[in-house]
Amino acid sequence: MSDRWNLSGKKVLVTGGTKGIGLAIVHEFVNLGAELFIVARSIQEVEKITADPQTKSMVSGMACDISSREERLRLEDFINSKWDRLDALVNNAGMNIRKSTTGYSEEEYDKIMDTNLRSAWDLSRLFHPMLSLSEQGNIINISSVAGLTSVRTGVIYGMSKSAVNHMTKYLAAEWASSGIRVNAIAPWYISTPLAREVLNDKAYRDEVISRTPLQKIGSPEDVAATAAFLCMPASAYITGQTISVDGGFTIKGF
Ligand code: NAP
Repeated sequence: MSDRWNLSGKKVLVTGGTKGIGLAIVHEFVNLGAELFIVARSIQEVEKITADPQTKSMVSGMACDISSREERLRLEDFINSKWDRLDALVNNAGMNIRKSTTGYSEEEYDKIMDTNLRSAWDLSRLFHPMLSLSEQGNIINISSVAGLTSVRTGVIYGMSKSAVNHMTKYLAAEWASSGIRVNAIAPWYISTPLAREVLNDKAYRDEVISRTPLQKIGSPEDVAATAAFLCMPASAYITGQTISVDGGFTIKGF
């Protein structure tokens, strides 16, 4: 029974594991017995986490900008030399630029798509061989409710997350035969450095809460717990799904 509900001995790569949702995933997975490797652009932030006495023996990491193909290849090389298999890849790192549609430049389009979509697509392919060597390989894509319905994030972010949700279905169907499950999590507002930029506006925050059946902003731990479940044997028959962690936001009509 207990083997179904822990992550003991799992080797897990988390992109953007230094802040917000990614950091909560690191803590949740370490508490459940996993060994983590994290990447983010800031080496100082990575070292803060790898030096933390709470997680130290279980977490290592390096600086890597996952929006760059060269950096992704460097990461693949490093993990290949470090581990003999990968049990889970968590494609979490993401960013946004909020604008109205006509205001975006080509460079901004590329930046959002490269960070949110191309990285997840390419890292999934690069780590497919190592995930195939796991008895229970998992990919978790951190998407957004913006990929399910129109919210006020700007269209490019919504497009990138919608494509992540669809990619999740395709990879799940194609890679089931390699023993790899692929699922996505679509959060609504979660209290992280990224979301605080807009949630610091009290009127906006109140509007978000009034539109959320559970009447609160989510916590990074709410998302981390779902990610942990999706990597456990307990969820062995779930693949290709996008699970909303949204306080009921997406099921509320009028
Ligand atoms: P966050 O607080 O801004 O943290 C982002 C993390 O990703 C940081 O560790 C950051 O570190 C890293 N990162 C950003 N760009 C990167 C890059 N190019 N290469 C490597 N690492 C990079 O964000 P969050 O709110 O936790 O969001 C995590 C994910 O959840 C994102 O995919 C986001 O779209 C999604 N999401 C968030 C919410 C929300 O309300 N917070 C809602 C829906 C979906 P560095 O800056 O050092 O690189």
